Amino acid sequence: MTQRILVINAGSSSIKYQLIHVAGGGADSGSADSGTADSGVTLASGLIERIGEPLGRVKHRAGETVLEWETVIPDHTEGFAQMARAFAESGTPLDELGVVAVGHRVVQGGSDFVEPTLIDDAVEARILELAELAPLHNPGHYRAIVAARQVFADVPHVAVFDTAFHQTMPPAAYTYAIDPALAARHGIRRYGFHGISHQVVSRRAAEVIGRPLGELNQIVLHLGNGASVCAVRGGVSVDTSMGLTPLEGLVMGTRSGDIDPGVLLHLLRAGMTEAELDDTLNKRSGVLGLFGSNDMRDLRAAVAAGEPAAELTFDVYAHRIRHYLGAYLAVLGGADTIVFTAGVGENHAPLREAVCSGLEWFGIEIDPALNAAVNADGPPAEPQVISSASSRVAILVVPTDEETEIARQTAQLVLG
Ligand code: ADP
Repeated sequence: MTQRILVINAGSSSIKYQLIHVAGGGADSGSADSGTADSGVTLASGLIERIGEPLGRVKHRAGETVLEWETVIPDHTEGFAQMARAFAESGTPLDELGVVAVGHRVVQGGSDFVEPTLIDDAVEARILELAELAPLHNPGHYRAIVAARQVFADVPHVAVFDTAFHQTMPPAAYTYAIDPALAARHGIRRYGFHGISHQVVSRRAAEVIGRPLGELNQIVLHLGNGASVCAVRGGVSVDTSMGLTPLEGLVMGTRSGDIDPGVLLHLLRAGMTEAELDDTLNKRSGVLGLFGSNDMRDLRAAVAAGEPAAELTFDVYAHRIRHYLGAYLAVLGGADTIVFTAGVGENHAPLREAVCSGLEWFGIEIDPALNAAVNADGPPAEPQVISSASSRVAILVVPTDEETEIARQTAQLVLG
């Protein structure tokens, strides 16, 4: 059985969408060893951007057809009208798409949402309330959900949360050591993000090495512009590096990751405003702050050219990853796999080697030739093993595919 799911990933000023043909969507998908029921084919995709700005932009791709135009897009409702126009102009109006459900990516589900959830008015309202914890993300999700439920009024809508996968973390991992009453009043705890990616990538890694997911201890390194590490035991998250917000943990493209909270106090006392602090730590730190560009390809070229600032940035970036790798080896009591994913993880062979080298004592042995071969022709299309035959820990590169995973989870919920 095959079904078409529309996946929406909306921000405050953009709507990304993919029409995905999901094969199966069988009841086995939630089990520890789901097979290939999750495979999906993207039939069309697009991006509506600069919503609310003087001139918006639409890009739509369906097979060989690529459509692009600019127009005023004041809000998300108009964004969906533009999406409808794009589908119609590429030959398939919305009512002929055969969409059976719409899956929405939602970054912050708080402690309320532990699994994909059918959206009704109450869920929609709660997603808006949770904007308190995710002011940059949930308002855009909310506006897209409201608009999409009007355009696709006859099909179920499902929210798939980035935080949900991490709701299995034990209290020792998610509790900050502050006054519990204060924490409860403000919803302060570690939530973790990138859960959709950590979930699909850990499941794929288990398939690749041919062992049951339920038996494995895995460390997943999602290294994109945003980056996080997840300790996965038996297919569930037991620790992750992002916290209350996506600012904690690894060094990222523009975010500092872990930093002594005393630095914030110090800067506030030095006269920095809350808005400046927010901007500095979220948008002007990390690789951008240290090096001047957040594009890891630029950093890579500068390291190759021997630029000292680039070398330091690379070392700080890799050191933080190794710091978490060591921590999660201890949290899990050893690992069966280490999995690299997302833009940097999938493409940056020298970084993977820097992260995994010198760890033979832990049973971690990367094979430099296999590692380099992954990117001989650019990004890998399929998962690949890059550890040596004698390595006790399997090291893998697994392309992430959050949209297909959202489609799979949506299909599973609405179709069973
Ligand atoms: P996002 O978090 O925006 O989804 P991605 O997962 O797409 O991010 O990853 C984007 C990052 O991947 C960028 O920093 C980009 O420079 C990096 N990247 C892509 N290709 C390469 C490459 N060949 N070598 C190093 N980094 C790369």
